[in-house]
Amino acid sequence: MNRLNQINPETNNSGQGIIRKPKSWFQSFLYQLFPDRCLFCRAIIPISSLKPLCTTCQKYYSTGGRICPACEGFFRNEPPCNCHNKSISLEGLLFAALYDQRWRKLIHDFKYKNRRAVADPLATWLAFEILNNSYCQPDLIVPLPLHPDRERERGYNQAELLGCRLAKLLKVSCKSDLLFKTKHTLSQTAISRHERRRNVRGAFTCHPEKLHGSTILLVDDVYSTGATMKEAAFILKNETGARVLGAVIAYNPNIRVMQRSGFYGGLEKW
Ligand SMILES: [Zn+2]
Ligand SMILES: [Zn+2]
Repeated sequence: MNRLNQINPETNNSGQGIIRKPKSWFQSFLYQLFPDRCLFCRAIIPISSLKPLCTTCQKYYSTGGRICPACEGFFRNEPPCNCHNKSISLEGLLFAALYDQRWRKLIHDFKYKNRRAVADPLATWLAFEILNNSYCQPDLIVPLPLHPDRERERGYNQAELLGCRLAKLLKVSCKSDLLFKTKHTLSQTAISRHERRRNVRGAFTCHPEKLHGSTILLVDDVYSTGATMKEAAFILKNETGARVLGAVIAYNPNIRVMQRSGFYGGLEKW
């Protein structure tokens, strides 16, 4: 069953931001046949779950948050950060969960093994975190593009699958023909954190379109150093004049930065 059909983005009584329920006896019937399952352990989960996780897995993955891409500090309030670092065009980053071994497997399957079905529950989760964190109200969602050769090879762009579903949930449009990846780059995971910025420099071009006063939400699956998303935000902001924020499923931070921030109190959730 398509989980998107069950989403009601209106605020519910518990203030969680999203509730889901079957809209007809037919949807209830389908749910009996094809129940929602936990993304990680495949346990059956209630249809009203706000995240696609069983209660056991929720204990490990209940840590969505927001960071400042410039100083990598955690936001307690609204972006922009008070570090006043204006050198980065990406104003904020929201993530649904912290990256770990289980995420590595799931995201790998999503990207390379055609496990496209997870786009729906992941977008649902991301929508929940955006609303629950009062993160932003985007006018437009832009998925981080792949190089056309790479997309042809893979058959799809996982960021676009996520972005389009998220846009439906947030009732905004998803624009895949604004930003393009025009330069071949090495896989960011294959090179050091220091080399990543240079690797993606000049990798994107943007269709010139005036979007002053708009907020663009850039969407991708994983954020590590953020080199790719920052480069994309730089081009987008320069060409359109819009404010640019980011949202990803999983954040893979530099562990030293995490320890310095103390946000997760000893990183016990790792
Ligand atoms: Zn589970
Ligand atoms: Zn900052």
